[in-house]
Amino acid sequence: MEFNIALVKGDGIGPEIVDNAVRVLEEVGRQFGHAFRCKSYLAGGCAIDACGQPLPQETVDGCLASDSVLLGAVGGPKWDGLAGDVRPEKALLKLRSVLGLYTNLRPARLYQALRAECPLRESTAEKGFDLMMVRELTGGIYFGERGHREGKYGPEAYDTEAYSELEIRRITKVAFETARKRRKKLTSIDKANVLDTSRLWRKIVHEMAADYPDVTVTDMLVDNAAMQLIRDPSQFDVVVTTNMFGDILSDEASQITGSIGLLPSASLGDTKRGMYEPIHGSAPDIAGTGKANPIATILSAAMMLRYSFDLQQEADKVEAAVDAVLNAGWRTADIVGSSGASPLTGDEMTDKIIEALRK
Ligand code: NAD
Repeated sequence: MEFNIALVKGDGIGPEIVDNAVRVLEEVGRQFGHAFRCKSYLAGGCAIDACGQPLPQETVDGCLASDSVLLGAVGGPKWDGLAGDVRPEKALLKLRSVLGLYTNLRPARLYQALRAECPLRESTAEKGFDLMMVRELTGGIYFGERGHREGKYGPEAYDTEAYSELEIRRITKVAFETARKRRKKLTSIDKANVLDTSRLWRKIVHEMAADYPDVTVTDMLVDNAAMQLIRDPSQFDVVVTTNMFGDILSDEASQITGSIGLLPSASLGDTKRGMYEPIHGSAPDIAGTGKANPIATILSAAMMLRYSFDLQQEADKVEAAVDAVLNAGWRTADIVGSSGASPLTGDEMTDKIIEALRK
């Protein structure tokens, strides 16, 4: 089969990690007889330098014309002083909105080979965890009405949280479908003891549960969820929540895996086209040193194979190759931890993953 992929490499380590993920895709293509046609587009700081804006129209058009988008990361100190509207990060928000990507999927899994790096206590880490965070991405307080006004205590600022039934229904559907393909356990996280939006959220989740009798649903308040993630993350399978709660909890979930360089993400909408990117940023402190761990981006490419191209076997194979390389003790600098291994560069780590794919 043939697929067109828009590559948005971005800034800092973005180009190195995306190039390495493309090498893995090329190997998958060779083994399974697919052609992944990749074309690069500018976004973020490099686009500001080249044409004065973080998201050129050519990039929007290229992404819309593609079957899927693979993104590195954007931003860096060079552009930190710019005003909000022309900052590199604006490119991401705009791309998500133009592509209609209202779902963010973030797996967080503890690799047994990296258990020693997990910041949780040994008895908790021993149990392992493998959860999928489903975060609503285009609604809620980040997109609600906001402003400044004169309040009871003088000048004040405000932001508002609003969720329509439609927005809750469509993200909940993704969560139920995802749970169905996993361990069939869904935890819906809200703040229904305080917020009206959460009470509506809970009502819709319960209504939809009737269509998924094979999935067990539990409600959990967000404050409790923040504690439970640390106390016993193994209790979670699929978690669904709002934009802001998901933003915070998914970062918490990523931290307990021990490394930011391993975690992929997918942003999806109503079509098969998605945007796939590592959860970390552009790591300007290590850009160009060869130290960037490419695994999060390689696993993001695997999610693209799975969710956008329906290539399950191919995705399984890439994930298994990453597992095999970590189990064999190969490490990049960020995950050496207490192992005493000599660190590989990002390119060398990719070579090992490609070797494992060939076995
Ligand atoms: P960061 O994720 O870039 O880096 C945090 C730390 O993790 C750094 O020490 C970095 O060296 C390390 N790190 C990150 N990815 C790594 C990898 N693949 N391999 C090895 N080490 C890795 O976060 P930050 O330093 O807060 O932000 C740097 C820039 O990235 C900022 O401009 C920020 O706005 C931007 N950012 C972009 C995105 C995105 O494009 N999606 C996300 C977060 C931050």
